[in-house]
Amino acid sequence: MTSERASDTSDDGSDAPRALIAGRGVAFIGLGHMGAPMAANLARAGVDVRGFDLSEEAVAHAREAGVPIADSAAAAVAGASVVITMLPVGRHVISAYAGVGSGDGSGDGGLLAAAAPGTLFVDCSTIAVDDARRAHELALAAGHRSIDAPVSGGVVGAEAATLAFMVGGDDADVAEARPLLEAMGRRVVHCGGPGLGQAAKVCNNMILGVSMIAVSEAFVLGEQLGLSNDALFEVAANASGQCWALTTNCPVPGPVPASPANRDYAPGFASALMAKDLGLAAQAIASTGVHAEAGSLAAEIYARFAEGDGAMRDFSAIITDIRERSARAGGSHATDGGAA
Ligand code: NAD
Repeated sequence: MTSERASDTSDDGSDAPRALIAGRGVAFIGLGHMGAPMAANLARAGVDVRGFDLSEEAVAHAREAGVPIADSAAAAVAGASVVITMLPVGRHVISAYAGVGSGDGSGDGGLLAAAAPGTLFVDCSTIAVDDARRAHELALAAGHRSIDAPVSGGVVGAEAATLAFMVGGDDADVAEARPLLEAMGRRVVHCGGPGLGQAAKVCNNMILGVSMIAVSEAFVLGEQLGLSNDALFEVAANASGQCWALTTNCPVPGPVPASPANRDYAPGFASALMAKDLGLAAQAIASTGVHAEAGSLAAEIYARFAEGDGAMRDFSAIITDIRERSARAGGSHATDGGAA
């Protein structure tokens, strides 16, 4: 069912950011785990949002969450001054923009051809820096403007409108998008020109992946040496080993009650997504020639872990893999929770 764009505005005109975006025409393409709640938050803020997804299941779920749905990508884009995409990987973004084999009903030229001249394209997907720059060039060549605005915060953050946006693009375009992003999140960091939002995301997640492996290896080594997990935590959390992977997402149960380790590694942040993000980091490492051995190795370790049962477990479950491999290699004191 096609939903016509309405002119009704927010019921709360006293809220300045809300007044800025109320009634604004926004197409939201990609209504998956992240896109549906993000689009629903825009609709809730009074934005005249029209969503579209190729998957009927995603559409049904988004409609239920309060997102007005368009019949096609082209219909979603009609009358919109901003087009937000939240798609799986770079090739989806490029093909949705350019229309090459996207099969999304947006016509041969894709979203770029369907949009009115000067439309602001905001890609929130996590994609390679090179793909983000390519998408930006395509948008410019088609007479539009574009920024990259990948997020952190996961589905929980998307639902609660507490996402963090890392944004790359021109000042004026970022300023224009900011009130919309603020309706979906609570932190918007302008990282620089086109592609630099993705660069910030990939660098941050490389720190996270490497540090989780380091923390997990240290716990398993401590276990083998007869050190209790609690003792190591007490020392490292108050010393130079302190980091988010240790003190917030601790890979062993006990010291941090809210960490996924206490619920059999239910995510949280799934290892499959960490493997994807580290794969993007590895691509960036290769294209820049940076000598990042730890980052490259972390990408390999998570890619291997995500091939099997690890994919849907929180990324801190990498410790179980390290422990199993250590036991297979003949560790004499391997335990599943540390020497008490
Ligand atoms: P998802 O697979 O749940 O949703 C993607 C949606 O895009 C799907 O519903 C798919 O049908 C749709 N799609 C693909 N091509 C399309 C097209 N041409 N036109 C319209 N719809 C199309 O993925 P997700 O978990 O929502 O993640 C989206 C992006 O956000 C990814 O890049 C991911 O890496 C990133 N991200 C995800 C999380 C998370 O926790 N899930 C956290 C941070 C960032």
